[in-house]
Amino acid sequence: MRDDFSQTVKENLAKRVGYKCSNPSCRCLTSGPQVNPDKSIIIGVASHITAASSDGPRYDNTITSDERGSSENGIWLCQNCGKLVDNDTTRYTVEILQDWKRRAEYDALLEVEGRSKQLTDPRASVF
Ligand SMILES: [Zn+2]
Repeated sequence: MRDDFSQTVKENLAKRVGYKCSNPSCRCLTSGPQVNPDKSIIIGVASHITAASSDGPRYDNTITSDERGSSENGIWLCQNCGKLVDNDTTRYTVEILQDWKRRAEYDALLEVEGRSKQLTDPRASVF
């Protein structure tokens, strides 16, 4: 039995990081145009921080089924990074993924508020 994310949770995870991969050393854009003007391409995945099923990576049997399928247990990654974190769970721990998520959401907030440009513009006064 798998506690998969709903479509709403997946979209929420993607939007909260501006459809960019949450891996701080990747940050690639995961959405773009398809040739058909009515369609788009998504190369991102809503990955489980702790696995959706008991045989999956970083499974946590102390949380409920609802918690397992909630936004709090998800992180938006590109397909490469999604594969990466699930194939080396010793390196990519729950704590690491939660840190990536926090930083990616913070970066998205700065960007959506227009503050990321100020912080990288050497002429701008930060404070
Ligand atoms: Zn990535």
